[in-house]
Amino acid sequence: MPANNPWPESDQQSLRAFYGEPGDESNLVTVDFPFATFYEGKRISKFRCHKKVADSLIKILKKIGEKYGKNREIMEEAEDFGGVFNFRNKRGGSTYSVHAWGAAIDLDADDNTFRDSWPMQSDMPLEIMEEFAKEGWLSAGAFWGYDSMHFQATR
Ligand SMILES: [Zn+2]
Repeated sequence: MPANNPWPESDQQSLRAFYGEPGDESNLVTVDFPFATFYEGKRISKFRCHKKVADSLIKILKKIGEKYGKNREIMEEAEDFGGVFNFRNKRGGSTYSVHAWGAAIDLDADDNTFRDSWPMQSDMPLEIMEEFAKEGWLSAGAFWGYDSMHFQATR
């Protein structure tokens, strides 16, 4: 993970200090996808995320589209949107998911779950993980070894 990034540590106190209250929709902005994107098979063109991550997230997605737009294997993962803002706890936990602040994104949720270890059982491409890493986002597959759908703007 690059040392120089603006993101907070991933504990709840640091997340609150940097992003505000979880679930506070006044911190969200609506942004456009830079390429054709689908959520549960339906085409969508916009999503909401925390205003502090919007520029970074758009930059990452644009880069992926520019570099790999013709690579179906990579774009099939990138175009399969699994959600950003979701006011909920971590799966199986009592603390808030970074999604509750709109500062995490899931891609290709079906094939990159908690049950699928990365890289053996999941198919999130390194190329996508690399673009998130360049912006300092934590890639769950690389850092936790599972849930490789998930990227969050924390250290
Ligand atoms: Zn997630």
